[in-house]
Amino acid sequence: MSIDRFELVRTSFGKKAPAVDLPDKKASEYFGERLFNRAAMRKYLDPQTFSALMECIDKGHPLDRATADRVAGGMKEWALENHVTHVTHWFQPLTEGTAEKHDSLIALDGRGGVIETFDGSSLAQQESDGSSFPNGGIRATFEARGYTAWDPTSPVFIQEDTLCIPTVFVAYTGEALDYKTPLKRSIKAVSDAAVPICRLFDPAVNNVKCFLGWEQEYFLVDEDLYAARTDLMITGRTLMGHMSSKSQQLADHYFGAIPARVAAFMRELEVEGLRLGIPLKTRHNEVAPNQFELAPIYGEANLSNDQNQLVMNLMNSIARKHGFVVLLHEKPFHGINGSGKHCNWSLGTDTGRPLMAPGRDAMGNLLFLTFFVNVLMAVQRHNDVLKASIASATNAHRLGGNEAPPAIISAFLGRTMTSVLRKILTVPSDTPIEIAGRKGRSVGLIEIPEIFVDNTDRNRTSPFAFTGNRFEFRAVGSSANCAGAVTTLNAAVAEQLLDFKQALDKELAAGKTLQVAVMDTLKPVIAKIIDVVCFDGNGYSEEWLLEAQRRGLDVETSVPEMFKAFTTPESVAMFTRTGVYTEKELGARNEVKWDIYTKKVQIESRVMVRMAVNHIIPAALEYKTRLLKEVSLHQQVMGSFDGCGTELDLIRRIGAYIEEVSDRAEAMRLARKRANTIEDEYARAVAYHAIAAQIEELRRPVDKLEELVDNQLWPLPKYRELLFIS
Ligand code: ADP
Ligand code: MG
Repeated sequence: MSIDRFELVRTSFGKKAPAVDLPDKKASEYFGERLFNRAAMRKYLDPQTFSALMECIDKGHPLDRATADRVAGGMKEWALENHVTHVTHWFQPLTEGTAEKHDSLIALDGRGGVIETFDGSSLAQQESDGSSFPNGGIRATFEARGYTAWDPTSPVFIQEDTLCIPTVFVAYTGEALDYKTPLKRSIKAVSDAAVPICRLFDPAVNNVKCFLGWEQEYFLVDEDLYAARTDLMITGRTLMGHMSSKSQQLADHYFGAIPARVAAFMRELEVEGLRLGIPLKTRHNEVAPNQFELAPIYGEANLSNDQNQLVMNLMNSIARKHGFVVLLHEKPFHGINGSGKHCNWSLGTDTGRPLMAPGRDAMGNLLFLTFFVNVLMAVQRHNDVLKASIASATNAHRLGGNEAPPAIISAFLGRTMTSVLRKILTVPSDTPIEIAGRKGRSVGLIEIPEIFVDNTDRNRTSPFAFTGNRFEFRAVGSSANCAGAVTTLNAAVAEQLLDFKQALDKELAAGKTLQVAVMDTLKPVIAKIIDVVCFDGNGYSEEWLLEAQRRGLDVETSVPEMFKAFTTPESVAMFTRTGVYTEKELGARNEVKWDIYTKKVQIESRVMVRMAVNHIIPAALEYKTRLLKEVSLHQQVMGSFDGCGTELDLIRRIGAYIEEVSDRAEAMRLARKRANTIEDEYARAVAYHAIAAQIEELRRPVDKLEELVDNQLWPLPKYRELLFIS
């Protein structure tokens, strides 16, 4: 039985949004109602337990067993009132997404019945049956299993009938097996390195926080059309498909109204997000057709990242209720924009002082400059590993394309900050730092505006851009766990801050004032970065590639090679000194990354070959046979082939493409067979990198055939059908 493509398109076009049960309340009334947040803690815990738990959350103290038992008691009461029947530890393994293992709350009561139980042991530690999660040889499957333990800084939440406990996932030997553990270490590392510097300006500072605001891009496709595309279903992207006549040239989608069906999905998603305490703030169409974006109000990085993971899960489940499938893949459609996840990142003190935004006075601005310059230096020193932190088989399709950050990490400062840095290099270190415009224009001063309002001074081609009160790490992929990128950035910044503080202490010991000492320490740093990592030009241009190479930035484009940056001596020193990863963890994680890369390409390659052989060639042959019959009939009736030029030409071209498809498919199958015999993860990934290119080569003749073969015979929904939701 073959699919009726036209019927599929007709029904998908005619679909209406389902009725959504929206709460009859204001957002402020249901925000966080599915969270065991501070309000719920206060209500369900006795005051002593509440304050003990607050100590754990705010000061990072470990949760002792007695407190854990009492916390669990309160949680259980809250959960049962909310009709919870199951509990799960919710964690972030090195595969994409989150993992859960659900247990019912019931236990036998010894009298033939059951009772609901939940105590501190289920909160604090749970052996995970996670032996098949990737761990890169750290934890051989026959060894003791890893365990999961609640991260009290991330509140417990309810999804459907299940109490979800956000946990870290670590081996018994202490190595991190997840994304959350290193992220938490990196947040601490940045704080430990930043606090002594902040204290020179304000002794009241005890802690520096790391903030994250993500912008999640995604595509929606109708689920019936999706189900007719094996490639989308299995790999998350279209491996073939000729460009639609209309795609994003008009940019009309970006400015257009949100289609009703999509708006209904977004509304439900927002409500569910808000109930889970995720402050979803903006939603809009993106540039490509069927592409959208969602962003919350930023928050502390660990929590905000959990929220992103949760939102990705929610998107998947809610979309299905609306007859959609969410595509979180970085490049679901060839030739139109891919999806990223801008990670807006900043630091701020526990006294409420943002560190990536200008201050209100000279000292405030000096503090801002200190952090601003050191972040840039960190990005320069570790631009290779920062790129590796966002690299993946799927994001590779986006990087270096003409619409997304290039595969070179540079930083965009904007006109104002570029000229401030250049000026600092030319003036004495005791030059007053003023707020721009306050004292009229004065040539001598270093002037920094109070706030950056100039949104036009933005550069979409930069992978790492300063946007007024934060840096925007734009190279992160839409399907990624932001923790990979944020952890690396934090570690790099922490290391640089440690070095900076050492240098600064020498200047201070020489009796200089704080400003002069800071300026004298910053100047050589600025001189190093201003013409290297700082780049305000067009990141997509050919010249930039050559220029970046000349500047000594990493220009590697092969993902398996990029991962090697994690284990260079510089990276190992940076990660171990800051306590973010051990050398063993770095090695193990790379094995996992190479392995995931290999598997992704392997799956794509298999799907591609099967689709080419089982879908495309038969359709093309059918059309070719029809043409052959036609010309043969013509010849019988008319006595010659005169007038069959078009048909004969089509027959020849189709025949040639069919041959090319089958040759390339066979070549790829053989390449796979060879690659599969390679033992070493790195070498196998390198072999698969070459196969990734073969997939694109096989795509070309397939897409040509789509252009030539009778539309009626084409077995797959075409781009023009997939990409325009009514
Ligand atoms: P854009 O101009 O990029 O559309 P938005 O105002 O939509 O900017 O913000 C993008 C994201 O950046 C949001 O999640 C927002 O909360 C976050 N953000 C804003 N300020 C900061 C900050 N200081 N630190 C971290 N994230 C921030
Ligand atoms: Mg942005």
